[in-house]
Amino acid sequence: MTEDDLKSLRRHHNATIGLFFAFWIYFLIVIVVINFFPPSNTTHDNLIGTMFGAAIVLCLLQFKKCCPDCGANLGLQRRLGIPKKCAKCGVILKK
Ligand SMILES: [Zn+2]
Repeated sequence: MTEDDLKSLRRHHNATIGLFFAFWIYFLIVIVVINFFPPSNTTHDNLIGTMFGAAIVLCLLQFKKCCPDCGANLGLQRRLGIPKKCAKCGVILKK
């Protein structure tokens, strides 16, 4: 595990959390817009489509990261972001 691996994991962790909050803010805005300012069908479909797109990206981001030491999937070890320690090999992933 190099310093670069740690840095990349930290960046990945922050990106996942950032996107997660951005997604919920977007989700709430879409709900409010659809309820109070009914958009046209096309706009409505675009809003919902973007939301599903963002949800898929978020899932990919969460589940594609693997432990640099043993290759265990880290997304399954924690609900959001990167765990402090790899559950399989015990390597420290975050300081
Ligand atoms: Zn590991």
